[in-house]
Amino acid sequence: MDIKQFYTSPIQTNTYLCADENSKEAFILDPGSVCKPLDNYIDSNEYKIKYIVLTHGHGDHICGVPHYKAKYKCQVAANKKDNRYFNDPISNQSRALCGQDVAFTPDIYVNDGDTLQVGNMTLHILFTPGHSPGGISVLVGNILFSGDTLFAESIGRTDFVGGSLIELKKSVREKMFVLPDDTFVLPGHMGHTTIGHEKQYNPFF
Ligand SMILES: [Zn+2]
Repeated sequence: MDIKQFYTSPIQTNTYLCADENSKEAFILDPGSVCKPLDNYIDSNEYKIKYIVLTHGHGDHICGVPHYKAKYKCQVAANKKDNRYFNDPISNQSRALCGQDVAFTPDIYVNDGDTLQVGNMTLHILFTPGHSPGGISVLVGNILFSGDTLFAESIGRTDFVGGSLIELKKSVREKMFVLPDDTFVLPGHMGHTTIGHEKQYNPFF
């Protein structure tokens, strides 16, 4: 599995490109803006983008969706409960973040326990609301893409519309801290961590 991280959006969102090098099938997680190095990486490796997977609907994670969906003819997968953000440029603050209104409807709705197949990678969807009502995290092998739910020694904000600190903590405890300690955590912002490290050092738990 080839995983590469890119910074997108004016507030440095972690966008991930994950590819199965054999089949060349790949997915993009949270394209926060158009990012030339990401395009170059996909094109130079001749990766075939099957899905854009969105951990949630905030503008700093979705502003690149129209570009990548049109360019690679791929499907957008997300949880329906964040449609209030996907569908509404006022709610997702895309104009402020990327200078244009971004609104769309996901092609595929994913829920807790669902899986998506991309080449030899099985994406396990975990429903992890709290930062937003339709927040999801994605487990691929021993790698957890935690969106803005869990950060290295921190957690995501819960003061946005539809956010809930109680729900976020429940999501982390019940969906993430049950994973093996050596699970790698790749969050939506800042550096990576592991489940074991967070169980021991995250001050919110
Ligand atoms: Zn967010």
